[in-house]
Amino acid sequence: MRVLRFLAALGLVAHIAACAHSPAPAPAPPASRVASSAAGAAAARTVILISIDGFRADYIGRGHTPTLARLAAEGATTPGMRPSFPSVTFPNHYTLVTGRRPDGHGVVDNVFEDPAMTPPRFDKNDKATANEPRWWEGAAPLWVSAERQGVRTATMFWPGSEAAIFGVRPSYWAAFDKATTSNQRTDRLLEWLDRPAAERPRFLTLYFNIVDGAGHEFGPDSPEVNQAAATVDTAIGRLIDGLKARGLYDATDLVVVADHGMAATSAQRRILLDDLVPLADVRTIVTGPVTGLAPLPGREAEVERHLLAPHDHIQCWRKAQLPARFAYGHNPRAPPIVCLAETGWKVATRQQAARYDADPSHQPGKVGGDHGYDPADPTMAALFIARGPDIRPGAVLPPFDNVDVYPLLARLLGVKPEPGDGRLEDVAPALLKP
Ligand code: AMP
Ligand code: ZN
Ligand code: ZN
Repeated sequence: MRVLRFLAALGLVAHIAACAHSPAPAPAPPASRVASSAAGAAAARTVILISIDGFRADYIGRGHTPTLARLAAEGATTPGMRPSFPSVTFPNHYTLVTGRRPDGHGVVDNVFEDPAMTPPRFDKNDKATANEPRWWEGAAPLWVSAERQGVRTATMFWPGSEAAIFGVRPSYWAAFDKATTSNQRTDRLLEWLDRPAAERPRFLTLYFNIVDGAGHEFGPDSPEVNQAAATVDTAIGRLIDGLKARGLYDATDLVVVADHGMAATSAQRRILLDDLVPLADVRTIVTGPVTGLAPLPGREAEVERHLLAPHDHIQCWRKAQLPARFAYGHNPRAPPIVCLAETGWKVATRQQAARYDADPSHQPGKVGGDHGYDPADPTMAALFIARGPDIRPGAVLPPFDNVDVYPLLARLLGVKPEPGDGRLEDVAPALLKP
């Protein structure tokens, strides 16, 4: 039933797509590039993995993303791809390119601690530390395997892509810069494709963050999210025009994904950490829909007595006792106690909450958005579209886990994959020749 409704929505947006103005054309390729492309295209596939951070699966039915709607109609899609636990950015981006659950690849959160390392703290916003290879070497991302197998790669932003993982970097990469516009990212990717044939990358990533940003600030149902989605859609249209101008489009498999969805939040749905546990007894490693805590030495029993008791709108577990479906808690980097908020509920200390309320830009009742909630919740479902010469047009797959994207990418690219948690069988119906 959900699939039917979803298809109906797609049909509607596909119709709008036909009437919409096409986006401004991408810069033209050098003349030599066009001439050499036809022969080069037949030799091997190009695979481009595009992530639209926080693009919830159902956004595509809203009518603001005609390019994505067309790609979905021409290729394969699903009503919702399930993120891995925790449903936040860094763990899930690394899962998409490794096929391993966060507990397996070791980037267990946006912020985490490794007791065996010095310094022990990983924070995605602390660039110097986060780009040290040691955090990322619990698994080899696809660009590392590809480079080792003689396939050149290029990353127009991706968590992990700035680190020399096992000593290997993409042939072309860029340091993450939020200020780069969506169109600029597309154009830099196209420049890499203008390299001479022997240097041209065959596996590329492209990352957009503005849909996630608007979702956090204004909530998933806001006009700002729709506007951001439209802007990214235009940048993807620009990419397609650029691929066509270079004679590459017919030999390119595009895989468009999101890392997670977005749930509406409000200050009315707030869990105060102080009400759960005496804050003097714990170290807070990460606060959010998934909150990670470590009892201070000697305070273990007291902290567990408080936290493991039933609470409204939040549940805490010892890491080893999380529900099995989260596939989380066995990595030494997972916090000793993990708490998961009910979808739409925010976690804060009393002090953080007071600071938020005192900010004049936060009107009482202001709606925002967040993710990190139960990956099975429909609001966390992520976009998935594949389109290209190896993809079955019109395929609609039942919902699958995002660990399955990696075996699909490896297959499209012809790169031997590392062992992982994903199963090609789950996504095989998307292939023209399974
Ligand atoms: P979050 O919503 O906290 O899970 O994280 C999303 C944010 O992570 C994005 O809005 C970006 O600002 C940031 N981000 C995404 N990719 C990178 C990267 N490669 N390096 C640093 N920060 C990033
Ligand atoms: Zn994200
Ligand atoms: Zn986010």
